Formats: sequence, structure tokens, C-alpha cells
Amino acid sequence: MQKGTIGVTTDNIFPVIKKFLYSDHDIFLRELVSNAVDATQKLKTLSSIGEFKGELGDISVRVSIDENEKTLTVSDSGIGMTSDEIERYINQIAFSSAEEFLDKYKNDANAIIGHFGLGFYSAFMVAKKVVIKTKSYKDEAKAVMWSCDGSPEYEMTEIEKERRGTDIILYIDDENKEFLEKNRIEGLLKKYCSFLPVSVVFGKEQEWKDGKYVDTDKDNVINDTTPAWTKKPTDLTDEDYKKFYQQLYPGMEEPLFWIHLNVDYPFKLTGILYFQKVKNNLDISRNKIQLYCNQVFVTDSVEGIVPDFLMLLQGVIDSPDIPLNVSRSYLQSDSNVKKISTYITKKVADRLQDIFNKERKQFEEKWDQIKLFIEYGMISDEKFNEKALKFALIKDTEEKYYTLDEYKTLIEAEQTDKDGNITYIYATDKTAQYSYIEAAQAKGYNVLLMDGQLDVHFIGMLEQKIEKSRFVRVDSNVADKLVEKANNNVVELSDIQKEMTETVFKTQIPEIEKSNFIVTFEAIGESSQPIVITQNEFMRRMKDMSALQPGMMNFYGEMPDSYSLIINTENPVSKKAIEQIEEGCKAEIMPIIETINKNNSEIEALKASHKEKKDDEIPVSEKEEIRSKENEITELRKKENDILSKYGAENKLVKQLIDLALLSNNMLKGEALSKFIKRSVELL
Ligand code: ADP
Repeated sequence: MQKGTIGVTTDNIFPVIKKFLYSDHDIFLRELVSNAVDATQKLKTLSSIGEFKGELGDISVRVSIDENEKTLTVSDSGIGMTSDEIERYINQIAFSSAEEFLDKYKNDANAIIGHFGLGFYSAFMVAKKVVIKTKSYKDEAKAVMWSCDGSPEYEMTEIEKERRGTDIILYIDDENKEFLEKNRIEGLLKKYCSFLPVSVVFGKEQEWKDGKYVDTDKDNVINDTTPAWTKKPTDLTDEDYKKFYQQLYPGMEEPLFWIHLNVDYPFKLTGILYFQKVKNNLDISRNKIQLYCNQVFVTDSVEGIVPDFLMLLQGVIDSPDIPLNVSRSYLQSDSNVKKISTYITKKVADRLQDIFNKERKQFEEKWDQIKLFIEYGMISDEKFNEKALKFALIKDTEEKYYTLDEYKTLIEAEQTDKDGNITYIYATDKTAQYSYIEAAQAKGYNVLLMDGQLDVHFIGMLEQKIEKSRFVRVDSNVADKLVEKANNNVVELSDIQKEMTETVFKTQIPEIEKSNFIVTFEAIGESSQPIVITQNEFMRRMKDMSALQPGMMNFYGEMPDSYSLIINTENPVSKKAIEQIEEGCKAEIMPIIETINKNNSEIEALKASHKEKKDDEIPVSEKEEIRSKENEITELRKKENDILSKYGAENKLVKQLIDLALLSNNMLKGEALSKFIKRSVELL
């Protein structure tokens, strides 16, 4: 028997392993099973190149629990170790044989698991004692037992062992009893080992017999050794891809599309990514992309490895080139990881382009479901944007889909304004903005439907990408003025008519919470609505954006909505209202306005004469005069306002017109609505 001290640089590495090295105790099982698989793969390699001539036999890796002994054992029939090798590979911790092996068998060792640093020693995270019983594949090799109780001292001795391969026996310590539970271990094996390339067996399959579950004599194999992503795309049918998806995420709805990734250079990466119907709440916490390293599950938090927007996808990425046991911040700056991220983005874009080219109809049908994902990508990733501009679709209110180029061609003729800008008109709610959409369509305009969650940002992005383009919501102006053309009709009203009408209308708009109105005039044709309410495009967009990013841009979020109430001076009904106001108020208002005008011109004259003078050269009496005239104007304005507002309150036509406009915007509510109904009945 040999005794010795494990060759480590620090005095006692075990406390370090236990406490700091792995925050996640679970992974000890991944490490041990990986080592077992690794040893088995090595033997297969040796066998295939003729260096091992014996029978491979059953090469499953077996995991078992002994409840009486309180042990967990991982057994393999791989290459095993000689006592020399234990000395080198186990006792000299820093030494990793994977490199040596890879070096020797460079060309045949493709299938060999990449190494995980201090894998074997992670057993001490959960065990108070670890025993290795191993017998090398080499002829004449003696079987050895090694044992260590968590101190730096180990014991090694020759034993009798019939079978080739290694048993790692863990004497589970009291704090980690959970790892002696069948369900716990089976859960862990499913998590980490589901797709390992060598069969992993845990107990027997069970069947229901005489009112309870009993073992059958069939091995309970945990894993699928040849998962879809390891196969050639040409060998897989659509059904295979769908089946694999179910293996990954049991019970999920069918995926929409998938992408098979497969690169060898400049890094190795395989995988399958699935597009799932993206739900509205951006819920990506479940069913995430899983990262594997040579079929060993590593993690499903892939932040930093795949671009943010691709986290909305699902599936598997497998790469031996992603450094695994390092910190996240290191990952994000790693150049391989960056390349991988760029590569995946490109592949996803290419695949979408491909589907678009070959199956446009299908692409359109699924567009609404993948749109959120694509828009997110286009907004957040410049490279993806470049490619996606060619296949991204926009939909109009008639449910027709266009590429950006097609749409431009469609609207160019009708919707170019006097400055040569193409105006893209969009609606965000087909029902609420119905009358505006109708009015715009009557002008021969096409209206896009932009009702997606990210469309505010998407529109902003498109405006920058499409040269000479302008996006306006369909209710941001009267239809006539959505596209600003030359020679728009002029409003034929006198200043006094305008002033009186504006005030009468303004004073009769019911109080609506967090809303501001201005009253303006447009000549938009006899057949257009008498009153149209529009919403300022800029303010509305700022508010929409602030709603998407709570905390940021709060300034806009707090601002009231700003609307224009536009009086169509050519509609006969609004004409009638303007006439009524003139008849009803002119006699009283005229003298007031004249006095105001007179005062104003006198103030101006005085101010003009003061222009060249310094403040102390202006006579006090003249300053006094200006102030008193200004006061008088304020008084007169108030009086004017009172008269017009009193008049407005009596004028049913004005109130009716305002309420109708509000109603068609879904803005007439509560008391105002019931007043409107009463008034309507009276008018009937
Ligand atoms: P790594 O796997 O990164 O090399 P480990 O500490 O997990 O680090 O293992 C150290 C070495 O011990 C392995 O490289 C391998 O040579 C040897 N080893 C571990 N487990 C086994 C096993 N089940 N069969 C044969 N050799 C093993």
C-alpha cells in the first residue's frame, strides 16, 4: 500500500473546492459522468485506430445509489487508469491529461469531451470520502484502489477487479444527503446528461404491477446519445426537428421555424434554434436556449453568448470553444464568444431570408408571430438590421404584407409631399382610428397597421433607415394634410370669425383628464367631417416610448396628451355653426375687439417711441399708460371670453359637433356622454 500527499500548491485545496470553486453543488455529478463518458470515448477511439484490440462489450456508464452504505457510484468501462496514471492525473491536480491525449490523437479524438478543470475533485463538494477502483485497458495492468477522506492525504493499493474501467464511489456526507435520493439523482442526470454521447444507465425501468411500481429487467437509460443537432441536416426530416423540440421542451406548441447551425471554422459550433410563437409579454424566462459542450449540458443562461434578441429563440447550442468555467464578464469579452454571437446572428438572418425567398406565403402567415422578435433584432443589432431590411414585412390595415421596398413603390406616387418626402401613414388601433383610416383611404392613401409592442421604436428606426421618409399616425392630422402637398385649400374666414369661433368651441370642450386641446381651422372639403380631432405625432410618440420604458423619459409620460380640434370650414354644418356664432355674438363682441385693437395699436406706438430711449428717459406717465391699457385689454379679453363661453353654453349645435368628434375618438365618457345623449334626444 502506498500513502502520499496530493500534489497541490496550496496546503489544503478541499475547503476551497467545497466552498468557493463551485457555487452549484449539483455539478459534481455532471463532472463525474462526463469523466466516465470521456474515458469511454477514449477507449472507443483507441479501438477504432486498432490500439485497443479487446472486446468493447457493454460500455454504458452506470450510476447507482447504495442506501445502506450511503454511497453514490459512477462506473464506466472506459480506459481506466494504471497506478502511474492515478499518480499523474489524480494526485497531481494541476495536471490535466486531456491535453496530452488530444495532442497524441489529434485527428481521431474529435469526440472526446473537453475538460472541465478540476472536475474529479468536485466530488468532495458532497462527499466525505471518495474511492476510485480502476483497471486500465492496457494488457497486464493491475487494478488499483485509491481513497481519500478530504484531507490532502490519500491511500493507494492494488486490488482485485475483474472488469476494465473505473468506479468512482462517493461516501456522501451528512449535509448532502439529498444526493442519495433516487429522484434527486434522476433529475440531475436528466438535466446534465440527457444528450451525452454514451448511454448513461440509472437503475431499471419500472412498470406498474399489483398496485405498485416494480423494476423490470430493462436498463433505465437516461440519455439520447445521438440528439438531432449532432446529425447532418440532410439526414433529418421536419418530423425529426419537431420531435427533438418535444424532447427539449415537452408539451410545448409546435415551433414555427428552425435553424440548424453547423460550423467548423474558425470555431466549432453546432445546434438547432427554434422560433416559437413569441408571446406578448416578452416572457423568456422559461424554455430558454440550452448551452452544451460536447453534448454535456452546461447552462441555460446564455446572456452574453447569444445576442439579446436571440434569447427569444429556443433550442440548443453546442460548442467546445466556449470557455465554460469562467465568469460572465470574461465570457462577454472573449473573442470566440463574440464571433459565435456574430455567426449566430448571421445564420438566423440568412435562414429567415431563405424562408422568405422560398416560402413567402408561409412566412407571411407566421409573420405576426415572429414580428416581435425580428423587430427587436432590427432595433438592437445593426448587423441583423442590415440583413432584415430585405425580408422584414409591414402590414397594412387591409391585412396585406409588403417588404419595405415593395411598400415604397406602392405609395411613392400618392404619398410624396411637396418636399419630396414619402409619407408613411400608420394606424395603431384599427377600431379606434376607424374614421381616420377611412378618410385617409378615401384620399387614395394606404394605411399601415403598427399595433405591435415595439412598433413605436420600430417606426423610429425605419424613419432613419429609409431615406426621405416620414411616419405619421393617421390621426395626427386631417386626411388632407397627412401628406403635405402644395396649394392646400385656404381657410376663408375673417380674423374676427376665427377668434369668436375658436373661443366658443374652446370653452365648450368638456374637461378630459390629462388632455389639452387647441382649436384650429382647415378647409378640407364639403364632404369631410365638420370637426376632426388629431393628436400631435411627436408628443404622442414620446409618450408611447416613455410608457415602454418606465423610469426613463418620465418627463413625457407626465405630460398631458395634446390634441387639435380642427374645424372644417367647408363642411356645411360647421359653416352653419360659424354663422350662428357670428350672428349671436358679433354685436356684443365687435366693440370689445375694436377697443382691444385700438389699445394694442396705442401700446405699440408708445413702445415704438421708446425704442431709442433708455429706461430712465421714458416718462413715468407713459409707462403708467401702457400698464393701464394692458390691464384694460386683460379685462376686455376676460369679458369677451365670458360672453362667448356663455353663448357657447347655449349653442346646442356647437356642443353637439364637439361631442360627435370626441365620440368618434372614443373620448366622450361619463357625464359628458350622458349629457350628449340627453341633448341628442332633445334635438330629435
Ligand atoms: P479533467 O477531466 O479536466 O482532465 P479531472 O479532474 O476531472 O480533470 O480528471 C483528471 C484526469 O483523471 C482526467 O483527465 C483523466 O485522465 C482521469 N480520469 C478521471 N476520471 C476518469 C475515469 N472515469 N476513467 C479514466 N480516467 C479518468
